[in-house]
Amino acid sequence: MYALEQKILTEGIVLSDQVLKVDAFLNHQIDPVLMQQIGKEFAARFKDTGITKIVTIEASGIAPAVMAGLELSVPVIFARKYQSLTLKDDLYRSKVFSFTKQVESTIAISNKHISSTDKVLVIDDFLANGQAALGLIDLIHQASAEIIGVGIVIEKSFQPGRDLLLEKGYRVESLARVASLENGTVTFVKE
Ligand code: 5GP
Repeated sequence: MYALEQKILTEGIVLSDQVLKVDAFLNHQIDPVLMQQIGKEFAARFKDTGITKIVTIEASGIAPAVMAGLELSVPVIFARKYQSLTLKDDLYRSKVFSFTKQVESTIAISNKHISSTDKVLVIDDFLANGQAALGLIDLIHQASAEIIGVGIVIEKSFQPGRDLLLEKGYRVESLARVASLENGTVTFVKE
């Protein structure tokens, strides 16, 4: 997606060979116009698949997921990373090892919002080792719902997440595919 790649090139900050910071438009400040374009792109890629729900993870998956939900006219559920007081019982839970924080945390969604008849699109901001996406997929499986695919805003294609998901048979649609962050420079996969 050209507009997203240009935004990454102009406003992304390469923190290391492994980590890209996009606090200027996705992870802290949010660019709503770009998010709307991202929502339209996800909707176009997954149109005619019968999606009934989108599942993402707090906090940075919410903006792109809501925009995709708006375009597809379906509800968006975000998995919570802790068990809050109002989200105690009747939970589907999974453990996720965080790439950026290097700690394991429990993610959870209420079983009230997802059922076996749902066809679910998983959306997240980044794909690195695939642990967040696999955790979300685990929650959806616990509900016996169908997984239509995984939509990613920024995939780091030099890390194993994409291949892991493809090997397990999931469709992966990434709007920007980063080939390398070496020498402080972002390069994209040529498609
Ligand atoms: P994974 O679970 O695929 O290893 O990592 C994906 C999760 O880690 C995303 O939800 C995202 O929050 C975070 N993440 C992974 N790589 C990056 C990165 O380069 N930059 C930022 N800002 N977040 C990342």
